Amino acid sequence: MKSTKYIFVTGGVVSGLGKGITAASLGRLLKSRGLKVASQKLDPYINVDPGTMSPYQHGEVYVTDDGAETDLDLGHYERFIDEDLNKFSNLTSGKVYWNVLNKERRGEYLGETVQVIPHITNEIKSFIYNVGKTSGADIVITEVGGTTGDIESQPFLEAIRQVGLEVGSENSLYIHVTLLPFLHGSDEHKTKPTQHSVKELQGLGIKPDILVLRCDEKLEESIFRKVAMFCNVKPDCVIENLTLPVLYQAPIMLEKLHFSDIVCRELNLSVPPCDLTEWNNMLEKIQNRTKKVTIGLVGKYVQLHDAYLSVAEALQHAGYELGSYVNIKWIDSESISKENVDDILGGCNGVIVPGGFGSRGIEGMIASADYCREHNLPYLGICLGMQIAVIAFARSVCGFKDANSGEFDENSAHKVIDFLPDQSESVNKGGTLRLGAYPCKIKKGTQMYKCYKTEEISERHRHRYEFNNDFRSALEDSGLTLSGTSPDGNIIETVEYDKNNFYVGVQFHPEFKSRPNKAHPLFLGLVAAALGEY
Ligand code: GLN
Repeated sequence: MKSTKYIFVTGGVVSGLGKGITAASLGRLLKSRGLKVASQKLDPYINVDPGTMSPYQHGEVYVTDDGAETDLDLGHYERFIDEDLNKFSNLTSGKVYWNVLNKERRGEYLGETVQVIPHITNEIKSFIYNVGKTSGADIVITEVGGTTGDIESQPFLEAIRQVGLEVGSENSLYIHVTLLPFLHGSDEHKTKPTQHSVKELQGLGIKPDILVLRCDEKLEESIFRKVAMFCNVKPDCVIENLTLPVLYQAPIMLEKLHFSDIVCRELNLSVPPCDLTEWNNMLEKIQNRTKKVTIGLVGKYVQLHDAYLSVAEALQHAGYELGSYVNIKWIDSESISKENVDDILGGCNGVIVPGGFGSRGIEGMIASADYCREHNLPYLGICLGMQIAVIAFARSVCGFKDANSGEFDENSAHKVIDFLPDQSESVNKGGTLRLGAYPCKIKKGTQMYKCYKTEEISERHRHRYEFNNDFRSALEDSGLTLSGTSPDGNIIETVEYDKNNFYVGVQFHPEFKSRPNKAHPLFLGLVAAALGEY
């Protein structure tokens, strides 16, 4: 039986180096050589998952098909590699300790003293090996979050060191991504921070095989030789990673530097060369864009664009396909009122209201949904944005002045959106979120059907509240189309307003399934409508 090979990607010097993009790009390159690739992120923080973290702190929460709430880097992996990830794909210190402590309480370590080594490291290793097992992958790429030298990441580094020992050097590879700063005063690149970071890693027993140097300007030849010598790696194992205008150019740039050849050589893999035809076609589309469109993104976390990373990416993907630049106008929903909505949204060709939690900024979103409906401005409401479209419709068209969601007004007589645990069996009574992929049945002849061109779809969810069936007929009679439901018809998953060209609200998150070379049907619909091409 073939053995799975493990690649570990660590980071040094500073955070935010694009370690995730390097890992994801390598995944794409190896996949294009015919290998089955799985990827994983180990996050040293203590939260059990990022589900409860503020989007301001941590950016968006990415949701997998099997309902895991994960780090946004997993979105990069799925977009670059186009392989669905699962609950083993993201592991935090919190989850590791949680699992180990639960085992301890169940008596599984009876008699033993439970320690960081071996119990915590064994738990981490079991996740790493599980990704290989559950996916049947040839290659598992594991990114370790944080920066080498952090106290928190030490058990993870120890675990990946042990994996290398267990599977052997032919089946494991360590890639260290560091910053190569350029000092303008002395007009040169500086290698010392990289040397220190590698030393730190070596002190933990890990000898990096490949160094990826993030830099804003091209590196001189002498830098590669110097880094190779001081950091004890082969000369061609020092690779430059230049900052690029378009993220998706990264695999191509790295391949020009023979990144995957070197990785395959070091892992003793003889596989065909990369076939990047499809990826290059996509890049050509990106280069050849001629049109321009502005989409207003109305949300409450707009100060941190990473809070809407997958939505922003999905908009760009649709633009690539349709030959258009998509300019996102980031609009703080708290700044919008009925009085100024025309000024703010007037210049937009389309509007998106993405997901969110809590009541802050809700009225501005409702004013936006009303404005789009009344002015035939293309509108895509995602999760909260769908609920907003329903509330706006109930208030303005049905005349239910106090219509609201149970999340924002417990006492409203018209809770058109509510927490309805009986409605969907999947939501446990404790009030956890409805998470992960669920099937949805689409009515023929609707805007939804026009986008998807099929009656059966599956999309990922992350919400607690939903459309209240008590108001189905009232809203339908007033002209809201309930275009998609769960297969048994019990849950309203999508709504739309037929009088407009494109006015769609979906309870799920389509953005998670958009790919740069396979734009999502709903984002294609929105951007096409915004371009007047729908
Ligand atoms: N707050 C809403 C709910 O819980 C919407 C969630 C979301 O947009 N992801 O149902």
